[in-house]
Amino acid sequence: MELIDGKKVAEGIRAGIARQVAHSIDNEGTAPHLAAILVGDDPASHTYVRNKEKACQEAGIISSVYKYPASLSERELLTVIDFINNDPEIHGLIVQLPLPAHIPSEKIIRAIHPCKDVDGFHPMNLGNMVQGLPAYLPATPYGILQLLEYYKIETEGKHCVVLGRSNIVGTPVSILLSRKSYPGNCTVTLCHSKTRDLDAICRQADILIAAIGQPHFVKADMVREGAVVIDVGMHRVPDFSKGSGHHLTGDVDFGEVSKKAGYITPVPGGVGPMTIVALLCNTLKAFKKEIYP
Ligand code: NAP
Repeated sequence: MELIDGKKVAEGIRAGIARQVAHSIDNEGTAPHLAAILVGDDPASHTYVRNKEKACQEAGIISSVYKYPASLSERELLTVIDFINNDPEIHGLIVQLPLPAHIPSEKIIRAIHPCKDVDGFHPMNLGNMVQGLPAYLPATPYGILQLLEYYKIETEGKHCVVLGRSNIVGTPVSILLSRKSYPGNCTVTLCHSKTRDLDAICRQADILIAAIGQPHFVKADMVREGAVVIDVGMHRVPDFSKGSGHHLTGDVDFGEVSKKAGYITPVPGGVGPMTIVALLCNTLKAFKKEIYP
């Protein structure tokens, strides 16, 4: 079994981004700027945004966080987005999800200018992605592609089973892995809560991607010997032996599945760091106007 070390791969990519940013500062006196909007006081969202800020700092990317109470109205949020859309000094904009229940996230995502939508959630970016046109790829699927590429994992002709059909992970990664490219050219099965015989389908997977939000759902008897297992799940388990009061675990029972898998991502240290670095990659692309010249 080979451990897919997302932390190491992410550090390498981040160092490459930092070199490009330093070069731009030295030669043009400008750096990429990522803005994040955070509404409410969800502790996990605050942690994610803090981690993104830290990653930006390490890469030399300017980051601004616009924090608002959960009582912010939809109209007020749209005004802030409009302001950032029109600020030429800001290259990327993300709105941390979930939003408070009274604000419809679909409407908010549509309000972000597609050129600044470095999360890749805007329908224009998703549509371009589906058609194989230049697009910001959603960060988690993009990070997964980069991991497969780094470990030179063969994808052509392989059966990839994706567990979960969310708009941010399952659905886009299933589309990306079925594209005519590398990584891609997989035969993809996308599973969800209504899928029958899930265990049997999982056992057919050469590549199994778990993004269902159920801790330790994937057990060894669901995995084929030698399969590539990518665990997207992220769960905080109370743990008073840790300073933070919790530890992280995934959708895969790592203890048993790692004995059977050919490759496996750990949690933490697998997909999580890649998601953050993929966001930095998109921010650099926005700065360089690579997607929308
Ligand atoms: P989500 O919105 O939580 O949706 C879960 C998906 O799993 C749905 O499609 C659901 O099916 C399916 N599902 C749930 N229980 C199932 C079951 N027993 N059998 C089969 N399918 C089942 O998904 P998400 O936002 O992609 O999040 C998934 C996990 O990834 C979460 O733990 C989240 O915290 C984590 N995550 C991690 C990162 C990272 O950077 N590492 C990034 C994003 C998300 P239906 O559609 O039928 O309801």
